[in-house]
Amino acid sequence: LGQADAQKVQALLQAPPAQGWQDLAPQLQSLAEYIAHGGYRLLMELLRGQREIEASIQTLSAAGLRGLGGAGFPLGRKWQLVRAQPAPRLMAVNIDEGEPGTFKDRHYLEREPQRFLEGMLIAAHCVGIEAIYIYVRDEYPALLDLLKREIDGLHAHLQAQGQATPPIHLRRGAGAYICGEESAMIESIEGKRGWPRQRPPYVAERGLFERPTLEHNMESLFWVRDILERGADWFVAQGRRGRKGLRSFSLSGRVAKPGVHLAPAGISLRELVEEYGGGMLPGHELYGFFPGGASGGIFPASLADEPLDFDTLQPHGGFIGSAAVIVFSQADRARDLALNAMEFFAHESCGQCVPCREGTQRAVQLMQAPEWNAPLLEELAQVMSDASICGLGQAAPNPMRCALRYFPQEF
Ligand code: SF4
Repeated sequence: LGQADAQKVQALLQAPPAQGWQDLAPQLQSLAEYIAHGGYRLLMELLRGQREIEASIQTLSAAGLRGLGGAGFPLGRKWQLVRAQPAPRLMAVNIDEGEPGTFKDRHYLEREPQRFLEGMLIAAHCVGIEAIYIYVRDEYPALLDLLKREIDGLHAHLQAQGQATPPIHLRRGAGAYICGEESAMIESIEGKRGWPRQRPPYVAERGLFERPTLEHNMESLFWVRDILERGADWFVAQGRRGRKGLRSFSLSGRVAKPGVHLAPAGISLRELVEEYGGGMLPGHELYGFFPGGASGGIFPASLADEPLDFDTLQPHGGFIGSAAVIVFSQADRARDLALNAMEFFAHESCGQCVPCREGTQRAVQLMQAPEWNAPLLEELAQVMSDASICGLGQAAPNPMRCALRYFPQEF
């Protein structure tokens, strides 16, 4: 270690211990409160055979609930697919939440962890899951602590009702962005290096420990109870411009009220900032935005009226992903932001495949030059998106391509 690094390590060793769950208590709904408000009634009905599994899955499908980690795969269809696979079936819950600008999972877990746990157990029951693995981001130590405590309380409560859950294993990540990718997370849970797998086979057929696996982002499960209680029509009606449901936008950047804002699917960026984000910060005008973390591209203000949802942004070269919206103003330059994103990807590339491992590093070098070599960058981007094994390498060129396409005045 150099002297500077040694000082940093020394400072870390002397830092106070990580926050415990007690520090989150003011906003945390306890298990007793959750039960008092109807919590676990649905699960009990399912466990006692008073509610049909098939009808429950159909309600979730009709609601249009999709995977909210970013991929947007229809949740009901995934349950049916895994359910049709031979037992034993396993479940992996992704709380790695590493996409830059995304903090919605933490927001919900700090407030209503039991709502997520009930959704998870409903999924486990409907799909016939034998063991559950929850993978928590290393940078969320307090949440890991909180979940341990909440799961213990839940076990005791269910035992008192004469019910049991499948074994629930908590796994701590180790700080790698790539472990948010479902197959890399599965490798990591198995105790291996977090390298994404080639597909097929898909994890629904052969995932954790070679078994069929139901993989979900935490937030997808968080909405299961609400939809089953209030009905598919309620959820569908929440959307705007013909889109279905609600999205939890992690809004940050040059806005007056950053934070997690629950808003209609299909809302535009302009509406999101005005109606939920308190407008732009004083002295700042909307210049552009990241619609979906670092991977979903960079858009100019002229696209601020497009509906934000799965599938709506592809024609413009981006996507909403986990709904992490980062707003920037005339004080920022899109080319700097694109470079920053590419440096992030170069750092987080797992190194397994050449187009991504080498491509991100070469792209950083090219983007650090005063003049961008646009044809060469485009050729590199094409190879990366065509030939990389996983979404990291495939999506890494998005911000750079968007900067060239939408912000020519900066070049
Ligand atoms: Fe690893 Fe990047 Fe290849 Fe994905 S695309 S497997 S992150 S090197």
